[in-house]
Amino acid sequence: MDGYRAEGGVVSTNFPARFLFADQLGPHFDDGGAITLVEAKSVFQRRAYNRQKAHLVLSALRHRAAEDSGRITLIRAGNYREGLSGLDVSAMDAVAATSRPARALQASLGFGQVHPERGWFTGPAEFAQWVEGRGRKRLLMEDWYRSVRRRHDILMDDGEPVDGRWNFDSDNRLPPPRGETHLPVPPPWQPAEDEIDAEVRADLDAWAKEGVEFLGTDGPRRFAVTREEAIQALEDFIDNRLALFGPYEDAVLWRDPFMAHSLLSVPLNLGLLHPVEVVDRAVEAWVDGRATIASVEGLIRQIIGWREYVWHLYWHLGAEYEELNALSADVHPPDWFLQAAWKEVDAHCLKRSLQYVSEIGYSHHIVRLMVLSNWATQRGYSPQVMNDWFRRAFVDGYPWVMTANVIGMGLYADGGTMATKPYVSGGAYIKKMTDFCGECRYDPKVRVGDNACPFTAGYWAFLDRHRESFRSNHRMGTALRTMDKLRDLPELLAQETARGEQAP
Ligand SMILES: Cc1cc2nc3c(=O)[nH]c(=O)nc-3n(C[C@H](O)[C@H](O)[C@H](O)COP(=O)(O)OP(=O)(O)OC[C@H]3O[C@@H](n4cnc5c(N)ncnc54)[C@H](O)[C@@H]3O)c2cc1C
Ligand code: SF4
Repeated sequence: MDGYRAEGGVVSTNFPARFLFADQLGPHFDDGGAITLVEAKSVFQRRAYNRQKAHLVLSALRHRAAEDSGRITLIRAGNYREGLSGLDVSAMDAVAATSRPARALQASLGFGQVHPERGWFTGPAEFAQWVEGRGRKRLLMEDWYRSVRRRHDILMDDGEPVDGRWNFDSDNRLPPPRGETHLPVPPPWQPAEDEIDAEVRADLDAWAKEGVEFLGTDGPRRFAVTREEAIQALEDFIDNRLALFGPYEDAVLWRDPFMAHSLLSVPLNLGLLHPVEVVDRAVEAWVDGRATIASVEGLIRQIIGWREYVWHLYWHLGAEYEELNALSADVHPPDWFLQAAWKEVDAHCLKRSLQYVSEIGYSHHIVRLMVLSNWATQRGYSPQVMNDWFRRAFVDGYPWVMTANVIGMGLYADGGTMATKPYVSGGAYIKKMTDFCGECRYDPKVRVGDNACPFTAGYWAFLDRHRESFRSNHRMGTALRTMDKLRDLPELLAQETARGEQAP
């Protein structure tokens, strides 16, 4: 698996310049000719992006241009069309963008040639073939993941998974270690900021003074934005943190937002790292005995399983999927939530999760799912508003990631295409997998009263609201029967109605 897969990309010599978006910055988008990048301010004027995400995108573009200023031109403009206005776009080429709106823009700009997408482990034909082979069976991530492992011979031994197992959930998914505040791993690699970062920071401060709104606060840059940094971040993770990635990938120690996670979603989504590289380095670490199969398999599952699956589903499910709202969730999330005003929140899990959004623009997947999405689903927040929020609020948010993660997994807005039941839980599960509850004024076991946990109460109120539609879902049967036995359900429902949209 050496090198990159250009997935059908045709190297063109006829075009004088290639236009690339800010998420196409790695070597696999560069065939050696001139490159034009556009820094479009309008993107940040339309909606409030996380301040640190704005910094990362601008810093990535400016660093890329500075790396080879003779060959790479960065145009600063109001928008893309304006930026390219003086150029003969028909004589330029491009690489297919990662979202429908960006592909529509590419088409309307009229590039001479648009090459097939790059930067993925698997191509659209491979996914289409897999879908066709499924017939009427559900498009399960696990089955996709196994098919990719088989087809590409990753962690396979004579047609069987190495170590005899496809999945190491019993070794992984441990609750957080008791009595610890941090995992015993070195802190994640962090870049040294340079003069380009200083310039970006000054520009963003100036934009903010002009009235451009940002979500969250400024902070030191924590994620890789150049190819060199991306490789350093990858090596550092593989050498120092991968070993504990698997066992604690689903656990939360709230003072340690990064745990043993890789922080690679930013460089991966900026197109600086190719997933093949991440898989290769992880396999090497296992072969060399530097990481257990459980951790290595856990990471590879995220990359060739989840990440590729989510990418292909974005295209497969189409634009209409993003409009689904199976639970008729039409509450506009309150401002304290949308603005991540964490100081207004008492519920410790939600408070800290919003603090992560505000101060680092990052949390790992369990916080995004078990706290933020769980809360939004319980409270009936609009999936379309949440989709937009997740995309803007996180440093790694892009449209293609939202379809499956937010509309499908997080909010169950598709009524069960992706997940067989809504990902909702009360405080007991949050208590099991995190250390949030120990410092909370609420009690996860209590449903009604001053110290009633809003997640526990919200869980039952959610089930009650949807009891009729969930009756036919056998996976919800036990929960519905338990709810029917709750004698304090009327008080609980009155309590949650009174809570309304107030911060818990
Ligand atoms: C509601 C919700 C919203 C999310 N939004 C985003 C998002 O905007 N951008 C994003 O890249 N990921 C998103 N994810 C997936 C996942 O939470 C992040 O990829 C991960 O937390 C990034 O941190 P990390 O790099 O430390 O990941 P690690 O835990 O170290 O995982 C390694 C890599 O696997 C990939 N990965 C793992 N799970 C997923 C997944 N479900 N979908 C796509 N890639 C995955 C990422 O590239 C990640 O860098 C979301 C998940 C949920 C539940
Ligand atoms: S008690 Fe409830 S609100 Fe408080 S941290 Fe635990 S789950 Fe969250």
